[in-house]
Amino acid sequence: MFVKPFRYERAASFGDAAAMLRQGAGSAKVLAGGQSLLPMMNLGVLDLEALIDVTHIAGASEIAQRDGYLSIGALRTHAELERDPIVAAGQPLVAAAARWVGSSRIRVRGTLGGSLAHSDPAAELPLAMVVAGATYDLTDGTTTRTVAATDFHESYFTTSLAENELLERVQVPVLGPGWGWGFAEVSRRRGDFALCAAAALVRVADGRVVESRLGLAGVAERPKRLGAVEIAVEGADATTLADRIGPIEGIDPVSDVSATAEHRRHLARVLAVRALTDAVTRGVAA
Ligand code: FAD
Repeated sequence: MFVKPFRYERAASFGDAAAMLRQGAGSAKVLAGGQSLLPMMNLGVLDLEALIDVTHIAGASEIAQRDGYLSIGALRTHAELERDPIVAAGQPLVAAAARWVGSSRIRVRGTLGGSLAHSDPAAELPLAMVVAGATYDLTDGTTTRTVAATDFHESYFTTSLAENELLERVQVPVLGPGWGWGFAEVSRRRGDFALCAAAALVRVADGRVVESRLGLAGVAERPKRLGAVEIAVEGADATTLADRIGPIEGIDPVSDVSATAEHRRHLARVLAVRALTDAVTRGVAA
């Protein structure tokens, strides 16, 4: 498929990019790592008049920890999240999730903002953000609003971003003392999108779960928190966790060429147990 000619524009700031989006009136899109956008253009799914390159915006790649939060600029690549010592220390779940995204060639170009804005329901980083309780700063160039990750990811490839808005930065709560994390995934080959992925954060006292956060990707229209399982595992230790978790409710897996809905449903329970058990083990050691 041949891509139709388009204009290439380079933004110097988020305000600049928002103004260019406004001028484009729906026929322009932001270009970050290009790892989802360009394949969609090549496949003819998207027909655009302009691409607005945001990768040269100064100051959009901060990673810092302050006031109990990690502040991560939208242009940070998956590879940087995977390796950054501030992310590893502050919220290791995010670093672990980044490690599962595609191959290393994808991870050096793909960006955090691109993955979240694309909002693939099987993607790892939106899942990690929902489970970690992250918020996203969105800007239209003049005003900035903050949206919880759970509200931002609305459905299949659909977010609460307005047409002229950009995702500028993400704020992730730092993991507190006594908390452990777990991330488990099954895909057809390493680097493929998840058939199902599970992310867990657990606070442990005397070897038992006192608080937990659990989510799944790949089995619903968006990353899903599993409140019923979170409650069910309270008081369990690493050896009794699995007994508390029955078939996972509240998910809606689909059958496709990669797996049946039934297989994805099976994986949901297996991976939930695995992620929670790893989280408890790490919480005990913390
Ligand atoms: P782009 O492709 O540049 O943009 C994606 C979308 O986000 C576009 O609509 C764009 O306009 C918008 N956008 C980008 N940045 C912003 C911003 N700051 N504000 C507002 N809108 C913005 N992903 C996974 O999660 N897991 C995988 O296993 C995985 N495997 C992959 C395998 C292959 C072979 C390929 C090609 C991709 C894979 N990906 C996977 C996708 C990869 O993670 C992409 O990097 C990511 O989805 C998009 O990031 P990007 O920076 O490349 O964004």
